[in-house]
Amino acid sequence: MRNGCAGGIIPVTLISTSIKRTEQGSLISTPTIIPRAEHSVSRADISENALKVLYRLNKAGFEAYLVGGGVRDLLLGLHPKDFDVATNASPEEVRAQFRNCRLIGRRFRLAHVHFGREIIEVATFRAHHDQGEGEGRMENGLILRDNVFGSLEDDAWRRDFRINALYYNIADFSLVDYTGGMRDLQNRELHIIGDPVTRFREDPVRMLRAIRFAAKLDFQLEANMAQAIMEQAERLSDVPAARLFEEVLKLFMHGHALRTYELMREYHLFKYLFSETNALLDSHGAYLDPFIRQAMINTDERIQAGKPVTPAFLFAVLLWGPVRRRVELLQEEMSVLDALRTAGDEVVSEMVKQVTLPKRFSLPMREIWQLQARLEMRRGKRPWRLLENRRFRAAYDFMLLREQVGEPLTELCQWWTEFQEEDEDGQQRLIHALPGNRPRRKKQAAKKKRVAPSTLINNT
Ligand code: ATP
Ligand code: MG
Repeated sequence: MRNGCAGGIIPVTLISTSIKRTEQGSLISTPTIIPRAEHSVSRADISENALKVLYRLNKAGFEAYLVGGGVRDLLLGLHPKDFDVATNASPEEVRAQFRNCRLIGRRFRLAHVHFGREIIEVATFRAHHDQGEGEGRMENGLILRDNVFGSLEDDAWRRDFRINALYYNIADFSLVDYTGGMRDLQNRELHIIGDPVTRFREDPVRMLRAIRFAAKLDFQLEANMAQAIMEQAERLSDVPAARLFEEVLKLFMHGHALRTYELMREYHLFKYLFSETNALLDSHGAYLDPFIRQAMINTDERIQAGKPVTPAFLFAVLLWGPVRRRVELLQEEMSVLDALRTAGDEVVSEMVKQVTLPKRFSLPMREIWQLQARLEMRRGKRPWRLLENRRFRAAYDFMLLREQVGEPLTELCQWWTEFQEEDEDGQQRLIHALPGNRPRRKKQAAKKKRVAPSTLINNT
């Protein structure tokens, strides 16, 4: 892909959008149209499947535009994560055009056109709820159903941020800018469309999206909007827990987790996703904050290197503070393994009140925690059994992370690193070399084994 273009290639003369009001007060805007010769979005950089969808809709007589992250990221010289299409065809009309198409969503109905693993999202132009036709439902300013259809212009004004409301027209390859998104790309600023308080009330997830885009693009949050986020943060508790789970993944799994975490804390949003962790960060931040930061740095590095990251590991990190805290108390009355199990159950059941955590992630997450105690138990055949555990690698990485931020685990980490590198004889030697694990005389062996105390909860 060609490299960035926001700095300079967007002609300043082309980026003013004029907005007037009618006597009734509704907005009329004249879009800025930027012809193909004057912008850098090229079909060579758009996925073939997205182009197929755009052309097909256009051929069938509908308007069809690429919009959202696809246009924004291409203008910034980045690789778009996915391609979103906007059209005046209704969801049913879209479905009629494609064999490989499914309609999804109730709150926001849209068409998914499937091409193997790639999905092109096709959304019908939406309007604000007092305009357009279709099905819309609001409650206390919160949008419950967002299926009121409208024109291209309506659609532009109901999008979240100005940089996300740029349309690439497949009919003539021009860009259409109603809201001033091109100017924002040039100034590297994030502006919400309309009044921030109203827009965050309609959909509080937009606050998380603001943080995500600011972190990903390294854009400045416009001051009024930044203020509104601080004031409206608690509205996140109105968002269904399942939707928040999807958002958390997007927040931390796209290569800018550290900056996202910093901004979430700064804007008081973290509390509404991870309230116990947030409280511990406020009171015991000296251990927990570096721990989370280091995990975010590692996650970002893995993503940059094209390595997989698992949500189970990420959640294990984000919830480790509350787990550790509980283990501290529970360990008085039960074994550390039982304490970890009980603490894990409690933390997960608190967590899902805020953010859903599907079992396919919460089970491996709990295993990672329990393995923290098992990794200390290195007698007999245990180390080999542990090595074969499917979560061994994640648990080992988790332990290294704890060591990195100052837990007294250096010997244990080195031991396990060597154990993985050695052949069987070497491994046997490592086990025998452990204190209290040397071959004993018969009389000694009969004595009760003394297990070294767990370092899990030591002095940090
Ligand atoms: P990326 O895909 O890189 O995460 P994106 O901007 O494409 O970023 P999507 O979630 O794919 O984000 O949404 C596509 C577009 O739909 C956005 O660019 C925006 O115009 C619009 N949009 C998405 N969510 C909302 C929302 N909650 N409120 C208003 N508009 C939204
Ligand atoms: Mg997108």
